[in-house]
Amino acid sequence: MKDLASELAQVKTVAIAGHIRPDGDCVGSCLATYNYITAWFPQTEADVYLEPIPNIFKFLSHADRIHHTCESDRTYDLCIVQDCGDAARLGAAVKYFNTAKKTICIDHHVSNDSFADENYVFPEKSSTSELIFELIEEEKITKEIAECIYVGIVHDTGVFQYSSTSARTMNIAGILMEKGISYTKIIDETFYTKTFEQNKILGQALLNSRRYLENQVIAAAVTKEEMERYQVLPKHLDGIVSQLRVTKGVEAAIFLYENEDGSWKISMRSNEKVDVARIAVKYQGGGHVRAAGATMEGSSQEVIGTLCEEIEKQLQREEPAGKELCQKDSDTQEESWQGAGEA
Ligand code: AMP
Ligand code: MN
Ligand code: MN
Repeated sequence: MKDLASELAQVKTVAIAGHIRPDGDCVGSCLATYNYITAWFPQTEADVYLEPIPNIFKFLSHADRIHHTCESDRTYDLCIVQDCGDAARLGAAVKYFNTAKKTICIDHHVSNDSFADENYVFPEKSSTSELIFELIEEEKITKEIAECIYVGIVHDTGVFQYSSTSARTMNIAGILMEKGISYTKIIDETFYTKTFEQNKILGQALLNSRRYLENQVIAAAVTKEEMERYQVLPKHLDGIVSQLRVTKGVEAAIFLYENEDGSWKISMRSNEKVDVARIAVKYQGGGHVRAAGATMEGSSQEVIGTLCEEIEKQLQREEPAGKELCQKDSDTQEESWQGAGEA
């Protein structure tokens, strides 16, 4: 695939979908595509399907048009899925993917297994939003589209901080700034600003945190009861794992929150050595080398113990991160892991 325009030339109806629990890159990239189609392909009918989005992203153009339910049984000429590494992560919108005449996946997850007809997947790229920028003509990027792409890049790079940020990423950000967007306001209001309740639960998570493996790993869990006490929802917990990661001396951070059914949503981040995507894939999750997630069962201490064992294996082998991803763990040495269960 060389650009979105040639893909759109042939079709009359398009469904756009992203991953469940949509984040800034997911919302930004999906709305960028939607706004591009509505601005430049008026004959093409487009629908965006995403789970409810965080309030901070509702200022983006046409965020109010996003369908949060998938009641219609429409069959689309084209279904474009974005920022999503596997079909199961599409949630209810998977039905539009399954029935569309053609499917395209635009993504940057290292765990992506090329599940669409056409796959535009570049794991080294900062964000799906950066990929969308590459797929549309620069002169057709309106201020509204620029805002969507900028939000996506800012969120997936932790404000241009992570190693996935390239010179090209910065170059694109510069071009977007020239489109007249309020770049400081976007960073402040969508990335750094937290509600009073969010700050409280962050504080609670940090109080709950403990270190393992000679302080190379930090982990914290928050329970359903704590989330109720501080009146926060899962979408309000973004950023907690990042704060854990920047603890001095730590290589990897693990954050868990309890789902309604008692299972745990896991977020992992690493600094230099650990390939957290490889661990997440082993537990049916996915993500990137330095940021990945999954859902796991058991007590929080059991889950932390299991993940610490996996991290310890990698630290002992000192493998370069990113190798052997998705391969079965052929490790036969049963290194006993100690520490996670200790008081
Ligand atoms: P999170 O820790 O939820 O912020 O996710 C970090 C990265 O891993 C993001 O790129 C997510 O899309 C991806 N990710 C998180 N959870 C899962 C999962 N269960 N399956 C696949 N990818 C995931
Ligand atoms: Mn995402
Ligand atoms: Mn992304």
